[in-house]
Amino acid sequence: MPVQAAETSAATPVDKEDKWGYDLYPERRGEAPKPKWWQVALFGAGQNNVEKTNCERNVYNCFQNSPLVRLMYSALKASGCEIDLRRHIACEICDVKVSGGYDPMLNQVVVCQNIARSTGMVQGILVHEMIHMFDACRHDLDFKNVEHLACTEIRAANLTHCSFLSAMAQGDASFFNVKQQHAQCVKTKAIASVLAVRQDISKEEARAVVDKVFVKCYNDLEPIGRRVRRNSTDMIRAYQERGNYGYE
Ligand SMILES: [Zn+2]
Repeated sequence: MPVQAAETSAATPVDKEDKWGYDLYPERRGEAPKPKWWQVALFGAGQNNVEKTNCERNVYNCFQNSPLVRLMYSALKASGCEIDLRRHIACEICDVKVSGGYDPMLNQVVVCQNIARSTGMVQGILVHEMIHMFDACRHDLDFKNVEHLACTEIRAANLTHCSFLSAMAQGDASFFNVKQQHAQCVKTKAIASVLAVRQDISKEEARAVVDKVFVKCYNDLEPIGRRVRRNSTDMIRAYQERGNYGYE
C-alpha cells in the first residue's frame, strides 16, 4: 500500500475488489508518463535514468546503513521471505500523488523515483512497505479483506510514520503533529491509507474498520518491537535487539 495520504488508484474496468493502486505505477503497464515541459524545465523530470540511478543508490544505501531497513530485512529473512533487491524492490516513475507502494500480486515494493529523492524519504517508504511485505509473508494477509488492510496500515503507521520516521528520517516534519496523540495519529494515517487504496468505501466505513481492529493491531509491534520515538536511539536499539525476536 502506498505511502502517504494520496494513495489513490485510478478507476479501472475490473472488479472493484481488485483495485490495489497498480494504476499509480504507470511504468508497470508500459506507459511511462511524459513529463510536462515545465517539469523538464524546472525539475529536470526528463532525466529518468538519472532519477532511477539515484533512487537505486538510495535503496542500496538504506539496505547497507539503515538499522530499521536492516531489521525489516532480517525479519523477512527469518520468516522465509528473504528480499532480493533486484527482484523485490523497484524504482519506478509513479503518479505524482504517491511516493511508494507495495504490490501484493508481485510481492514487490515500489519506490517512486520521481517523488522520493532523498535517502531519508526512501528509508521511510522502504520500512512502511516492508511492514506490508512482512504481514503478507508472516500472517497470510489478504489485501482484499479491508480489515486486513486496515490492520497492516495501522501497523505501518504505528511503527514508523507517527514516530521517528515521519519527522526525522522521511524529511516530512509537517506531517507529524506533535500535539496529536500518538494513537490518534496512527488512526488518522491508517484511515487515509485505507481510503487511498479502497476508493469504493466511504470515510465512515474506513474509520469504522480501523476502529474495529485498532487495539489488536496497534499493540502488535512485531517485528520492530517498539514504537520508534523521535530523537532517540530506539531505531538502533531495535536493530541491536533483533536476536530477541529470532531475527539475525
Ligand atoms: Zn501502506
